[in-house]
Amino acid sequence: MKTTVLALAAALLASAAPATTLIDHANGLQVDAQGHLQHFTGLLVGDDGKVVRLLHDGEPLPKASMTVDVHGQTLLPGFIDAHGHVMELGTDALHLDLVGTRSLAELQQRLRDYAAQHPDARWIQGAGWNQELWPSKQFPTAADLDAIVPDRPVVLERVDGHALVANSAAMRAAGVTPQTPAPAGGEIIDGLFVDNAKALINRAIPAPTQAEMDQAFAKAQEILLGFGVTGVGSMSTSLDDWNTFRRAGDAGSLKVRLMVYLLGLDPLKAIPHPTPWLYGDRLRAQGVKFFADGALGSRGAWLKQPYSDAPNTIGNQLHSDADLRSQEDAAAAAGFQIATHAIGDAANAQVISTYEWLDSKYGLNRRWRIEHAQVVDCADLPRIGRAHIIASMQPTHQTSDRLMAEKRLGLSRLKCAYAWQSMLRTGARLAFGTDFPVESPNPFPGLAAAISRQDINDEPPGGWFPEERLSFEQALAAYTRGAAYAGFAEDKIGSLEPGKWADFVILDRDISKASVPELYRTQVLETWVGGKKVWSRAPAASAPERGR
Ligand SMILES: [Zn+2]
Repeated sequence: MKTTVLALAAALLASAAPATTLIDHANGLQVDAQGHLQHFTGLLVGDDGKVVRLLHDGEPLPKASMTVDVHGQTLLPGFIDAHGHVMELGTDALHLDLVGTRSLAELQQRLRDYAAQHPDARWIQGAGWNQELWPSKQFPTAADLDAIVPDRPVVLERVDGHALVANSAAMRAAGVTPQTPAPAGGEIIDGLFVDNAKALINRAIPAPTQAEMDQAFAKAQEILLGFGVTGVGSMSTSLDDWNTFRRAGDAGSLKVRLMVYLLGLDPLKAIPHPTPWLYGDRLRAQGVKFFADGALGSRGAWLKQPYSDAPNTIGNQLHSDADLRSQEDAAAAAGFQIATHAIGDAANAQVISTYEWLDSKYGLNRRWRIEHAQVVDCADLPRIGRAHIIASMQPTHQTSDRLMAEKRLGLSRLKCAYAWQSMLRTGARLAFGTDFPVESPNPFPGLAAAISRQDINDEPPGGWFPEERLSFEQALAAYTRGAAYAGFAEDKIGSLEPGKWADFVILDRDISKASVPELYRTQVLETWVGGKKVWSRAPAASAPERGR
């Protein structure tokens, strides 16, 4: 009798033993808390989806209910994009893609094809053009679009999202006439609507249905996971976006972890305070995003001195000091983290001053973030570290903007622009991302740019302001640990350690040994979130669809 009870107890214990998964034969790489590259050969993952422990060469293998042999392939923590626009990524992927158009004629051809393929679309929406890549360098006009689509509204956003061009039908639908004045912080020129003027057109676009938003979010997750991105600082999130994420969470289809930054104070009527982590640490409203200025490409970035190539303007200041301070104070008082877009040196100075003031009121541990921090006056740089500000930066902006930035600013003002190494030296924490869909969410071009200051064509030789290059470890840390820290999630993600989520990627090459051109071409083979494989490359598939 006694032995039977014992046997029964043993059987019960065995069945209650957690179902662990052993990930074996990995070339595991990550950056440790001291910033050194750490190697490991496998992972033991608990049935809760969290790491039980890392395995190293020569250690006896632990027992596990399932073993996954990765055949020596390279395994890293999932990438965290500290600054991306999730719904726009999915929406743009379903809209007319104008990335890479090399002339106005090519834009017009793509518009003609899309209009023919989408006869039922009430509005034709597209994004991704950049006139800097065209021989003419001229902004497109309403007339250029009317020549192709005269009968339906057409709205095409510039690649940086800071300007759009509308056709006459769109302007009619929006009630815009030649007499309509541009609002403060905006401009209207022949159908081109810059910064604050964009709203005149955007407000006339019919809102997407819930089903369209769900479809766009599903598309965005698929693109992100295909690039090995398992966590995102979801910037400029509207209430509708948030509700879309919630629907996915409720339906069990939320895979990517989203650290949400709401767009301004409006959504706080419905979400008055930061939420706890929801859906197994996959969703949290934790911050509020503000804008201090626009972008360099459309000369909306707010500068201390006039643009070198437009001496009549210093760009667009979007808030007075008092206004920015009072809005950010309201969000901070409600418990939110603050993230402020600042690109020009005047905007960065304004945001630093605002954060210094917030520090004096709330202390130094609130991790205020500057988004982009692209052009900083060298005199202001040390203040960033002193105020414990997080520099949320995008390495591929440097390679994409280089020639345009030289024209807009002149070389002397670029000494502390895209200044990653200088930023770290001030003591600031660096968090990397891509600002997708402004750039592709693919993290490998970002890593390559960060360590080389060269684009995919090895330009310029030796790197652009090469003293700002990062080591491989510094760059990888900014894309993993740094981005997790920037989102108050360093106890959950950003590295593979006991108790943290088993979010990892398997790559087609060892990126710690890859040359810069090889690093640019790295592909993800599998993406795992919470110990589950959520994406794998189809055999012989080409690169995942380019998400902008
Ligand atoms: Zn952005």
